[in-house]
Amino acid sequence: TNYLIHRLSLGAESTPDKLFASRPGQPDVTYAQLFSGAQALAQRLIAQGLEPGDRVAVQVAKTLEAVQLYLGTVMAGGIFLPLNTAYTAAEVGYFLGDATPRILVCDPARLDELSPLATDATVLTLDSAGQGSLTADLPDADPAFAPVSRGGDDLAAILYTSGTTGRSKGAMLSHKNLASNSASLVDLWRFTTDDVLIHALPIFHTHGLFVATNVALLSGASTVFLPGFDADAILDAMPSATALMGVPTFYTRLLQHDRLTPDHAANMRLFISGSAPLLVDTHEQWQARTGHRILERYGMTETNMSTSNPYDAERRAGTVGFPLPGVELRIMKDGAKVAQDDIGIIEVRGDNVFQGYWQMPEKTAEELRPDGWFITGDLAQQDSDGYVTIVGRAKDLIITGGFNVYPKEVESLIDDLPGVLESAVIGVPHPDFGEAVVAIVVPDSPNLTVETIAQACASDLAKFKQPKQIFLVDALPRNTMGKVQKKALREENVALFA
Ligand code: ATP
Ligand code: MG
Repeated sequence: TNYLIHRLSLGAESTPDKLFASRPGQPDVTYAQLFSGAQALAQRLIAQGLEPGDRVAVQVAKTLEAVQLYLGTVMAGGIFLPLNTAYTAAEVGYFLGDATPRILVCDPARLDELSPLATDATVLTLDSAGQGSLTADLPDADPAFAPVSRGGDDLAAILYTSGTTGRSKGAMLSHKNLASNSASLVDLWRFTTDDVLIHALPIFHTHGLFVATNVALLSGASTVFLPGFDADAILDAMPSATALMGVPTFYTRLLQHDRLTPDHAANMRLFISGSAPLLVDTHEQWQARTGHRILERYGMTETNMSTSNPYDAERRAGTVGFPLPGVELRIMKDGAKVAQDDIGIIEVRGDNVFQGYWQMPEKTAEELRPDGWFITGDLAQQDSDGYVTIVGRAKDLIITGGFNVYPKEVESLIDDLPGVLESAVIGVPHPDFGEAVVAIVVPDSPNLTVETIAQACASDLAKFKQPKQIFLVDALPRNTMGKVQKKALREENVALFA
């Protein structure tokens, strides 16, 4: 059998006519149609020369056919390698050189640009309407076709990290990594065939591809399948849906709409947030506007999901909850576990942890210990109740005059000031201190001044934590997953104290 496909098809096995996806303005898709289309694509990939273990690189718009391409690749024994649609030809070129796929599937509009970069790959196309050489004249799946046999330790996907802290790394994910994590999430978040998940996340990333899609498949739930974030479309879907998975910006943007009321959200049972920190303020506003407490969870490309707030017990704002069942978590500093409430780096171990970075043995050895513990690079603390709070990335830690400053502490203080929407605190090179603390603040009122922020910091923070410079800006730079690009902010301000 094929380890992952076998498990993902169990959800609606006894009800093949169950709806998998409703799509505004497009025909509904049942589970039977989803899987038979995926099978047909698997056969096409094999006909194009795909052999078990070959990579299929994919840079296409979010469509049902793209989901079938994911499933079809895995059915064919291949390794699915999705790429952010925002990547330029030069960036795609790097990934193709690194991953040496057998097949590249891209948008027809990019064919001329990308073909020369895919020297050893067969190039097929798929557009935002699901049309292209991949799907053209596709015969029905051969009923005798059986998914290529693959075990739990075989690779199902290589997913590149978001590149927030440096060059993206290819995380090798096995069938078991993916299957075990979605099984934990289905249990923990109580997904069943009665659920209708609003699926508005991109599918080139863990959150939309593995958390949202695999959880829906494994539980036999239906989705409202949207090509991207669209507040109106999400609000249209809400009265007949039960769950939403989003990045924090989904929630801040939805809050700007008057249609968001407790009545409108009455059929919903669960709002989940992750990929970037959810502000306590957003959490509270969401509860006030809908009556629901957002469930925040934490994960990364390399580990799938590692922690989650509980379903039944308190969902504590500002925290990412507890380790998932089957995931071991420890917070380490200088080679030892930290005391309760102390800050250190999160390490995790379990079936969720990836197999290493594609073709980067040194990097893998640096971050994945021989006994299975993965060093996440995220700084966190755990309170007496066991709730984990992420305080930032180790790479964003500021060391000024020999003292550690955790950006989150300064950001939280600034974010709580009236007139502040959000902030990013970074370290930039400084001739005396090594690094200096700099705050970049987005106001939500014209009355906010740099002086007010400076005064609040001066009264509440030790001198070394106080920003040496504060800027007001219209918006923070973010990537598609809503992550603040601190690296870009540091680069912009690199010469500030030079
Ligand atoms: P790169 O590794 O290439 O620098 P990246 O770490 O942003 O990029 P991803 O794997 O997409 O790539 O993101 C994982 C990171 O996102 C985590 O390590 C963590 O820093 C952050 N993250 C995810 N969920 C949360 C959350 N709920 N709260 C705070 N941070 C989160
Ligand atoms: Mg990372």
